[in-house]
Amino acid sequence: MPRLIFMNDRLVPEDEARVSVFDHGLLYGDGVFEGLRSYSGKVFRLAAHLDRLWESAQAIRLEIPISKEAMSKAVVDTLAANNLVDGYVRLVVTRGAGGLGLDPGRTSNPQVIVIADTISLYPAEFYEKGLRIVTAATQRISPAALSPRIKSLNYLNNIMAKVEGLQAGCVEALMLNHKGEVAECTGDNVFCVRSGTLLTPPTDAGILEGITRNAVLELAHAAGIPAREAVLTRHDLYTACECFLTGTAAEVIPVVEIDGRRIGNGAPGPITRSLKDAFHKLVRSEQA
Ligand code: PMP
Repeated sequence: MPRLIFMNDRLVPEDEARVSVFDHGLLYGDGVFEGLRSYSGKVFRLAAHLDRLWESAQAIRLEIPISKEAMSKAVVDTLAANNLVDGYVRLVVTRGAGGLGLDPGRTSNPQVIVIADTISLYPAEFYEKGLRIVTAATQRISPAALSPRIKSLNYLNNIMAKVEGLQAGCVEALMLNHKGEVAECTGDNVFCVRSGTLLTPPTDAGILEGITRNAVLELAHAAGIPAREAVLTRHDLYTACECFLTGTAAEVIPVVEIDGRRIGNGAPGPITRSLKDAFHKLVRSEQA
């Protein structure tokens, strides 16, 4: 059965879902995207993902040609049309086709694409034993150059760091910001636990404000775990008791080694494990 893709206003078979070679999404990475997940038929924090998509678009002066309600329906319909109950959804809005020049004013027809697929998680072993990660030499792009809060179609900054991680035998890599502070990983936010307090870099460290990150901060508050945003250095992570990453695809995943330094006792810590469990309960309990 071919997958069905939502393109602009209707579902079409995968091989009919095409964009122009003149689309600035392809030519320049000019566009925005989102990644969402559905659990037992309910899309986790759909409204928050749509808000972030609309904010990304607003920041690059791209007008999304459909309403949030229509986008929300497209997400639900695309999952249903592909018989996906537990699935991953990619929303893409491109600038549309134009000439071979940067000017977005000379483009027309932004393309709205919704792809639903099965989710490919990291192997179960990583969730039980924890990840090894390395710091990439590639810095996270400075907010003065392009805000990392924009989830744009140009992910080369993250891809460069991902390649470095893979080269070192790691599935994720830590990225520092232009000041040398901890920012985030290539597709995940980062947390650590120091003296019983959960810490994560603030959004002005130049990160994507992750929806999983925000859910984990709420869960920590609800569980009475002290939690706050803090500027972190690599030293803070190297000497932390616990470390973990959060993301829509990864959920909550422990980190047990950074740049060859063992974190805590080298096994996922108790706060990480309790937040991981609480997150699993949350995604199954929240109403769509
Ligand atoms: N940082 C980056 C750079 C990302 O691409 C992602 C994944 N979208 C995240 C963090 C995690 O964000 P979320 O929890 O909203 O998936």
